Amino acid sequence: MRYGQIRKYDVANGPGIRSTIFVTGCTHNCKNCFNKEYQDFDYGDVWTSKETKEVIDYLKLNEVNGLTVLGGEPFQNEKDLYKIIKEIQKEISKDIWIFSGYTFDQIIEDENKKKLLELCDVLVDGPFIEDLKNLKLKFRGSSNQRIIDIKKSFKENQVIELDI
Ligand code: SF4
Repeated sequence: MRYGQIRKYDVANGPGIRSTIFVTGCTHNCKNCFNKEYQDFDYGDVWTSKETKEVIDYLKLNEVNGLTVLGGEPFQNEKDLYKIIKEIQKEISKDIWIFSGYTFDQIIEDENKKKLLELCDVLVDGPFIEDLKNLKLKFRGSSNQRIIDIKKSFKENQVIELDI
């Protein structure tokens, strides 16, 4: 897996101060994608154990509320991300937000994607749709995208959105 950047402090991609990972590679090709260079699976550096340790160190900071994973498409890097998040969760139990161009239903159809989803707490789902763009929305670009409580959705067997 490759990544475009790691942010120690990010206040734009989830509640509070978060550390963020931007993985690279995405085939959704949304019109006016906010991170076009991150669509390339060859863009950025290869993720190694050094990066995993760096993120763990950031998450141990009191002022960091949790981790956010975005891209690119995290669910097209699902096998590597599953292992990386497992490693992180051995050390720290802060909440994890993950963004995807897939919908919740599309993710759970695929065994490996579902396994990654189950490690996380909140999913912001669906592609960015230019015609539904709304700058007033928190943590989302277009109104089709939902902020989903993953654990509750699995428990209740239906998509439960967070009231944000
Ligand atoms: S899912 Fe995200 S990274 Fe992929 S094309 Fe759409 S906006 Fe760009």
